[in-house]
Amino acid sequence: MSHATTLSYARERDAADALSHYRQQFHFPKHNDAPVRYFTGNSLGLMPRSVRAYLETELKSWETYGVEGHFEGPHPWMHYHKLFTEKAARVVGALPLEVVVMNTLTTNLHLLMVSFYRPTQERFKIIMEGGAFPSDQYAIESQVRFHGYQPEEAIVELVPRAGETHLRHDDILATIAREGAQTALVMLGGVNYYTGQLFNMADITRAGHAAGAVVGFDLAHAAGNVPLQLHDWNVDFACWCSYKYLNSGPGGPSGIFVHERHAHNAELPRFAGWWGHDEGERFKMKKGFQPMPGAAGWQLSNAQVMAMAPHLASLDIFDEVGMPALRAKSVELTGYLSWLLDQLQAEFPQSGLHVITPKNPDERGCQQSIVLPKIGRKVFEYLSANGVIADWREPDVIRVAPVPLYNSFEDVQQLYEILRAAIIQNS
Ligand SMILES: *Cc1c(COP(=O)(O)O)cnc(C)c1O
Repeated sequence: MSHATTLSYARERDAADALSHYRQQFHFPKHNDAPVRYFTGNSLGLMPRSVRAYLETELKSWETYGVEGHFEGPHPWMHYHKLFTEKAARVVGALPLEVVVMNTLTTNLHLLMVSFYRPTQERFKIIMEGGAFPSDQYAIESQVRFHGYQPEEAIVELVPRAGETHLRHDDILATIAREGAQTALVMLGGVNYYTGQLFNMADITRAGHAAGAVVGFDLAHAAGNVPLQLHDWNVDFACWCSYKYLNSGPGGPSGIFVHERHAHNAELPRFAGWWGHDEGERFKMKKGFQPMPGAAGWQLSNAQVMAMAPHLASLDIFDEVGMPALRAKSVELTGYLSWLLDQLQAEFPQSGLHVITPKNPDERGCQQSIVLPKIGRKVFEYLSANGVIADWREPDVIRVAPVPLYNSFEDVQQLYEILRAAIIQNS
C-alpha cells in the first residue's frame, strides 16, 4: 500500500471519500475554536446533530398528550421499543425477532446469563478473556458465585502466550476443545476493548457448540464497528451498548440478541417483567407470565423513551450508510493509521513504540492500541494539550479509534504529526 505522510495526501483521500460528508452530521468538541481530533468514539461516540429534534419530538408528545402519549403523537410510546428492532437487527446481522433494545449493557449481561448460564455438576465452567472489561469480569464472577461455584474453579481465562500481546485464534479453539466437556458457556467480547482484537465469532461459536456449550458475545466494542452476522453465525445470545460506536449518548440503551432457535422456548428460565409478557394479554394484568416470542420476551419495563430517542436518531444514520460501506471506509482509514504508526516505529526505534492490535484487518475493528513504554503518559498529555482526544490506559497504552462515520484521513494524518512532535519532545 503506497500512502504518504503529508497533509495534502490525506486531503486527497478525504476528497475521494464518498462518506466524508457524514462528518457534518456530528457535533465536535472545540479546542482553541477548532474541532478537536476526536479518537474516542470507542468510549463515547459524538452527538449526531439530529438528536435534538428526535428528543424534541418526544418532549412535545409528553407536553401535548401527557399519558395519552402512549397512544398519540408521531411515535406512540406503547410501541416505542419496536421502532428500534429492525434497524438494530441490521447492524448486528439478525432477524427482527432476535433483537430488542432495552436497559443497559451490564444489566442485560446478567439477564442473559440467567437464561443461558445453566451450570450442572459436570458442566459449570465459563470460558472468557483474561483481562476482560471489568464490568464483564464482575458480572461473570457474581453469576458463578450465585450458582454456588468459586470463580477460580469455574472461570477459564484465555490469555496471550508469554511475550505476545493478543490471543491466537487456534489457542482459543484449543482451549474450548480442552475444557469443552466441563464448559457451560463461552462468553467473549466480539472486539477486545483493550487490544482492539476482533475475534472470529463464527469459528468460536462452532467450536463452542461442538463442545456442547452455549456461546454468547459482549459486542460493546463490535456493534457499529465491524460487520456482524449473529444469526448466520448461530450465536446463542449477545448484547451491546449504544453509546460507543453507536453514538447514542452517555448511558444510552443496550441491545440484545437471542437466536431464533430459542425464540419460542418458554421453558428457558428468565427474570421476567410485564413488558416481556405476551402483548395481547399485557394489560389484562393477570397472573401467569407468558413470554413474547423472541428477544422481546426478555424485556422487563416499558421503554425509557427519553434515553432511547438519541439511539433512534443514530440508528437512522447507520441505516442510511449501511455497515458494508462503513466497514470499507474503516479498513482504509485504520489501514492508513496503521501505516503511519509503522513509519513512526521505524523513525523512532528507541521510543519503543509498538501497536498491540493485530495487523490483519480481519482481526481488528477501527481501534489501534499503541504502547509507548516510559514516555506514554507524557505523550498522551501532549496530545491532549494539542487538541487530540485519545484514551489512556495504565500502564502505557494509548487507544485511538478513527471512526469511519465522522473521522477523516486528515484527522488521522494530524494525529500522526502531533504524535511525532510529542515523541521528539520527549526523547
Ligand atoms: C463499555 C463496556 C461496558 C459498559 O457497561 P455498561 O453497563 O454500559 O456501563 C461493559 N462491557 C464492555 C466489554 C464494555 O466495553
